[in-house]
Amino acid sequence: MKSKNPARDAAATNFVRNIIEEDLRSGKYAARRWAGRPGPAAAHAAAAADPARIRTRFPPEPNGYLHIGHAKSILLNFGLARDYGGLCHMRFDDTNPTKEEQEYVDSILEAVRWLGCDWGEHLYYASDYFETLYRFAEMFIEHGLAYVESLSAEELRALRGTLTKGGENSPYRDRPPAESLDLFRRMRAGEFPDGAHVLRLKIDMGSGNINMRDPVIYRIRHERHHRTGDAWCIYPMYDYTHCISDALENITHSICTLEFEDHRPLYDWVLERLADFGALARPLPQQIEFARLNLTYVVLSKRKLIQLVEEGHVEGWDDPRLPTIAGFRRRGYTPESLRLFAERIGVAKENSTIDMSILEDCLREDLNERAARRIAVLDPAKLVIDNYPAGAEEQCQAPNHPQKPEWGKRAVPFARELWIEREDFTESPPKGYFRLSPGAEVRLRYAYIVKCERVEKDSSGNIAAVHCTYDPNTKSGTPGAEQKKVKGNIHWVSARHAIAGEARLYERLFGVPNPGAGERDFLQEINPDSKKIIRAWLEPALMEARAEERFQFERHGYFVADAKDSRPGAPVFNRAVTLRDSWGKAGA
Ligand code: ATP
Ligand code: MG
Repeated sequence: MKSKNPARDAAATNFVRNIIEEDLRSGKYAARRWAGRPGPAAAHAAAAADPARIRTRFPPEPNGYLHIGHAKSILLNFGLARDYGGLCHMRFDDTNPTKEEQEYVDSILEAVRWLGCDWGEHLYYASDYFETLYRFAEMFIEHGLAYVESLSAEELRALRGTLTKGGENSPYRDRPPAESLDLFRRMRAGEFPDGAHVLRLKIDMGSGNINMRDPVIYRIRHERHHRTGDAWCIYPMYDYTHCISDALENITHSICTLEFEDHRPLYDWVLERLADFGALARPLPQQIEFARLNLTYVVLSKRKLIQLVEEGHVEGWDDPRLPTIAGFRRRGYTPESLRLFAERIGVAKENSTIDMSILEDCLREDLNERAARRIAVLDPAKLVIDNYPAGAEEQCQAPNHPQKPEWGKRAVPFARELWIEREDFTESPPKGYFRLSPGAEVRLRYAYIVKCERVEKDSSGNIAAVHCTYDPNTKSGTPGAEQKKVKGNIHWVSARHAIAGEARLYERLFGVPNPGAGERDFLQEINPDSKKIIRAWLEPALMEARAEERFQFERHGYFVADAKDSRPGAPVFNRAVTLRDSWGKAGA
């Protein structure tokens, strides 16, 4: 799908694209040699075959489900690779054994695939590099650039300094390399309990950048890892692992979010030293930062998302109210709508918050094109056509898409008793109300013009039925039918033919634009009306809706047959988005 404003989109992504184009022009990566380097064979084979290609990667930690912010990163990384004839690797940064699970790995791969991104054979795990990472750590020790630290965590913190004050050297900083090497090997062998020692790089405790103050690169964790099992009881830290993983995979452009800007000197330091040792080949990958996506009316912090799921505030990771990719999918979003969104918001260097309505508009635009039209009555009132024969019925022809005649028409049965929307009738019409009221005429969409004759009430005064008469010469699609003009045009389903279905009407999960901002508790800001389940009357064609099939219910919005709960014959529809942005407006 094309963006509405390609010029702005192109400008917005230009700073990353400029770097890539410059590197391609200068042939920066073309001269690299691959033979004999550690790293995955498939990555080396691909790079050797065509060294000039750019390579990006999407590197999630498998410690939660992906959200819309990750979608931005995925689409950026895979999109750049596609646009510049490169490759994008899928890599799990799985260095933390305590929080990671196979379930997350599976859900992440499914989400990336669903977005239409293809990593081909390039699926990697940082845990596959544990042996190499360990060997490199020994190299740092041997070169006097890393040491085993034996202070406690509190003592380390005390020496670390602050943003404005440098840190202090540890008494272990000058430990001879041979002693550090021996201790590090024994750490690996499992001789020490958690926390007894860590391995630190020896950089500069006086650095203005805290990340450069002898960062910890290994710690002891007697924990099972979801892939390496009990093979390791020491685990490398993220900063150390990430840059090396990029280099081992021959990544050229390592694109990440802005909070890593201060980590870039460390990224470069580690790789430059390894290149000095001869362990890695230059040119090395370069880190480029962009602004993360923030969106109104949602939370995107993994911790908060986990809390919402684990405490049961929502019904699982794919709850249609969650901003997870699985949630958006179940809500009825299409991959194309998310891609359109990513293009439209662009890639910037400044953090900002995007309004949720931009995302919803992208969905409307996409579904307006691809969703067939159907009729559903969500809040039924009975309409009886007194002059229509009781046992009779006929078919009306309704277009599947108003702008796409090639999509054809379907037959919609019409009979004496119909369901209409309760709000399409009123006894006392305000000025400008063109729908049904006593004495008024409307067109029943794709059928006849009817005139409201009287209202029937039950014993408690509620409306039991709206009685009308129809004009047999006004059937839509028959010659002369359109000569008589009326202003109102309402939808309906035949009561006898309609099928009952469940409709889940979703609203935003949070009632405020920035849940949990300031000192507020985000849980207190959950919108109590974010999910409403109703029974809807559906036209018969909806009976066979397939899971994930999307429709526009005329005048209501876009709905998707629920992926888990909808069955042919017993459909369940989720409202993806209303037709117009009515959020927050009175009476919406
Ligand atoms: P964690 O706190 O667990 O690290 P995370 O959101 O950074 O959480 P990762 O799995 O590390 O999750 O993220 C994978 C990639 O997605 C990273 O490159 C990260 O920069 C990117 N990413 C995460 N959140 C956003 C966001 N809101 N917008 C754009 N990119 C994001
Ligand atoms: Mg992260």
